[in-house]
Amino acid sequence: MIPPQRILTRNEQPRRPDGDWVVYWMMAARRPGWNFGLQRAIEAADSLGKPLVVVEALSASYPWASARHSAFVLEGMRHQAEAFANKPVLYHPYAEPEVGAGRGLIEAWAERACLVVTDHWPCLELPRWQRKVAAQIGVRMEAIDSCGIMPLQATPRAFPTAHAFRRFLQKELPSHLGDLPKPDPFVGAKLPKAPAMPKGIHKQWPAADLSDPRALAQALPIDQAVEPVEVRGGAAEASARMVEFLDERLDSYTERNRPDVLASSGLSPWFHFGHASPHELLFRLAQRVGWSPADVEVGGNGSREGWWRMPAAAESFLDELITWRELGHVLCHHVPNYGAYEELPPWAVATLEEHATDPRPHTYTLEQFERAETHDPLWNAAQMQLREEGIIHNYLRMLWGKKILHWTRSPREALEVMVHLNNRWALDGRDPNSWAGIMWVLGRFDRAWGPERPVFGKVRYMTSDNTARKYNVKAYVARYQPAKQPALFEE
Ligand SMILES: Cc1cc2nc3c(=O)[nH]c(=O)nc-3n(C[C@H](O)[C@H](O)[C@H](O)COP(=O)(O)OP(=O)(O)OC[C@H]3O[C@@H](n4cnc5c(N)ncnc54)[C@H](O)[C@@H]3O)c2cc1C
Repeated sequence: MIPPQRILTRNEQPRRPDGDWVVYWMMAARRPGWNFGLQRAIEAADSLGKPLVVVEALSASYPWASARHSAFVLEGMRHQAEAFANKPVLYHPYAEPEVGAGRGLIEAWAERACLVVTDHWPCLELPRWQRKVAAQIGVRMEAIDSCGIMPLQATPRAFPTAHAFRRFLQKELPSHLGDLPKPDPFVGAKLPKAPAMPKGIHKQWPAADLSDPRALAQALPIDQAVEPVEVRGGAAEASARMVEFLDERLDSYTERNRPDVLASSGLSPWFHFGHASPHELLFRLAQRVGWSPADVEVGGNGSREGWWRMPAAAESFLDELITWRELGHVLCHHVPNYGAYEELPPWAVATLEEHATDPRPHTYTLEQFERAETHDPLWNAAQMQLREEGIIHNYLRMLWGKKILHWTRSPREALEVMVHLNNRWALDGRDPNSWAGIMWVLGRFDRAWGPERPVFGKVRYMTSDNTARKYNVKAYVARYQPAKQPALFEE
């Protein structure tokens, strides 16, 4: 059974038991297991004795759509097709060949459906697209929340700081820790044979040819300058990376701020596209360290250490995976304008505005930032990593943002530049944590710091020099310096 708090209704239409199938519109939890949405659709199909249809679409019209993001999603779809090949399900992968071509696809499947199930995702276009479709169909649509360990509907509001959210979690999370989605939701279900693809649907929305996901992504009418990266999307890849991280790097996770050491999981792109499940990762971690939900400390005062009663590295990792990751989801779930400058805490807006006209030591245009043409080799290296690999090292991502604030004409412009660069180039961009991270640079989830400084005011300050003093950044700068990549400047 799916915990009721994870079920959001998208319209007031009834279920139609005399329909021909149950549709799962896979939008955010793009994985064949550890997925409450898919599980809900299977449970409904099983109880109604109806076949299951899974529709996974890739739009060409979402903001910052690029070959990089699309190749990653299509890789995931190829995996999905393999995972569903021997299951009682009609899997319909679809890639929009031109903007708007996918319009009507879900409505067409819904015409003969008993129920449409989809995924809840708290940001960007997804909730809006879902409500639009839900208003046009004559059958019930439900959006299921598989986003995190804490159901979003069980949170009362956005939290001002990670500490406040951690305190809340330490009280509320224990009652949700035992609610895991099934690793394989088909186990135990008796579904009828999958239906054949209706001719009309096939003709207008033919299934994507997934034999070469990259080639397909590179043929779509989207931003082709942001090219696919080496890493591959997909749930199987995500699970393999979880195992590798737990076996090889978890114990050194407390070293993750060092640019010369790879200590973090690197999983954020797979989380962003729903290829990775936080429940699966928590489950695997618990097995590895011999932990069970009964082990957590009762109560808790919001402290980062000790509550889980796990080894320090594991606790530190869970603080990022749950407290920080879900802080961003909760923000987007409760605050409709989560990306607006005006939504920053009043103290941050006040101090940034007070310093908005301070002379900047350097200013750069969006294009200069984008091309990594600043005076600062460390910043340029971070930007080059973003362009080449679609990621920035954990710690340097904070510095990257802080320097954009320092070198733009106003904090509002800094926000625009960060959003554009992050969401265009980062494989994990356009995520609740894109806005959470970017807003953190401008003071969200943080407190006022002293001494007050030019441009930053009381907002936390970071410098490349301090970073270079604290950590060995030489190899990182050498590896990503723009001079080695002249081709990137020839656009
Ligand atoms: C300016 C700026 C922009 C950012 N943009 C994004 C973004 O577009 N997408 C994104 O997922 N994260 C973003 N972050 C948060 C953070 O930098 C990344 O989540 C993290 O670097 C991912 O690396 P990892 O997977 O190795 O993390 P790990 O340390 O292995 O952590 C595991 C998971 O926890 C989550 N996580 C870790 N750190 C944070 C954090 N500080 N805040 C929120 N969640 C976290 C991620 O889902 C991550 O995959 C941004 C941070 C900043 C300062």
